Amino acid sequence: MPATDLIAAIATPAGRGGIGVIRVSGADVSPIIEGMLGGRAPRPRTATLVRFLGSRGEALDEGMALLFPAPASYTGETVLELHGHGGPAVLALLLKRCLELGARIAEPGEFTKRAFLNDKMDLAQAEAVADLIDAATTTAARAAARSLSGEFSREVQGIVDALVELRMITEATLDFPDEDIEFVRAADARGKVSALRERLAAIILRARQGRLLREGLNIVIIGAPNVGKSSLLNRLVGDDVAIVTPIAGTTRDAIRSSIEIRGIPLHVTDTAGLRHAADEVEKIGIERTWSAIDRADLALVIADAREHEAFGAEAFTAKLPPTLPRITVRNKIDLSGEPPKSTTADGRTSVWLSAKTGAGIELLQDAILDLAGAHEEMDDTFLARERHLQALARALGHLDQAGAHLEAASPPLELFAEELREAQNALSSIAGKFTADDLLGEIFSRFCIGK
Ligand code: GDP
Repeated sequence: MPATDLIAAIATPAGRGGIGVIRVSGADVSPIIEGMLGGRAPRPRTATLVRFLGSRGEALDEGMALLFPAPASYTGETVLELHGHGGPAVLALLLKRCLELGARIAEPGEFTKRAFLNDKMDLAQAEAVADLIDAATTTAARAAARSLSGEFSREVQGIVDALVELRMITEATLDFPDEDIEFVRAADARGKVSALRERLAAIILRARQGRLLREGLNIVIIGAPNVGKSSLLNRLVGDDVAIVTPIAGTTRDAIRSSIEIRGIPLHVTDTAGLRHAADEVEKIGIERTWSAIDRADLALVIADAREHEAFGAEAFTAKLPPTLPRITVRNKIDLSGEPPKSTTADGRTSVWLSAKTGAGIELLQDAILDLAGAHEEMDDTFLARERHLQALARALGHLDQAGAHLEAASPPLELFAEELREAQNALSSIAGKFTADDLLGEIFSRFCIGK
């Protein structure tokens, strides 16, 4: 059901700038052309110098009008862009005039939602639009652009196509029950399923890295006072980065910093506050710290290289979720006289370093990115979301089931076909086919206005 009423919004950021753009979209933009451009429609897709008129015919501003007749536009409807001067007051006047002429203010993401409903892009691409705008690092921006161009959608669609083909052969065989076993052999169903699983696993790997770029890694730092937790955090930030932003609030509340290593956002929570629980404020801080630990992807356990490893930290490490990956950091090697090194034994990684001199810091950065699965080149990732990963994982689960059915002495082809169908549905949900309205609402409501 294509939406056709006239929507308008300021498409450029709030504040002052050289130009500011109002975007209008709908089935019929002629009321705006009548009321604001004196009735002369600009030539399609040609920048035209115009005066934007108020209700009494007075000039509100002077600028450029750009007309994109349907369907060759961002939304697939007729789009009119008014490029005026980039001041908040003048843009408010222009927007108000559009509303007087019958437009309504666009909801967040409504232009992109219309583009999706008019088949201008699929849901994964629409999400990539928001992710590209929100990207905090250049690596994340490049990954979002890759998804926006449809690369992610095409990879997923490739698997859907192969599933459809295999389903067709299977359904055809179902009419001839005696040929089940023959089918499995002749159509190389096993080979096809396992090839599909491999392709899907490769996509999942790229998508996981993309989610990491988008959402970052949650890290908790654990250790006795004075082992060098703050010094290490400052060191980790190093030259690579950007921002250390304590979350606002009281100092005892300021438990989380966001930093960036080689393009990956890391959200670091210092658990120092766990030691003292004197007053109410601290108790709240402690609760938050524990919930940060619940959400953590990785714990850094810091100890002084001169002390026994567990010194001062065992009270915390004992309480950590046993499955939480951790790296032991032996700090202050400039005092203990050891060289920087990184060792892994029984899946436990330890890194010897000095937060003070910086020796060994790269080893820790490598170990962190390694554990996050982010050490490979991030140049071919898709900026995926949790929603995509869950759909990919569901599809893989159904393919596993399908493969298991083929192993039976007399393969139950109905069940096999059903698993293929489920896998296909899971993958199709990424592109937004058969997606429930409330999910669409939820996705688009997180866009900024004017997009
Ligand atoms: P925190 O309480 O764990 O956050 O520890 P700090 O980062 O505040 O460090 C405590 C003290 O140890 C400070 O005086 C730091 O300068 C010192 N320190 C931290 N790391 C090192 C290191 O690698 N070598 C040396 N010599 N001193 C360090």
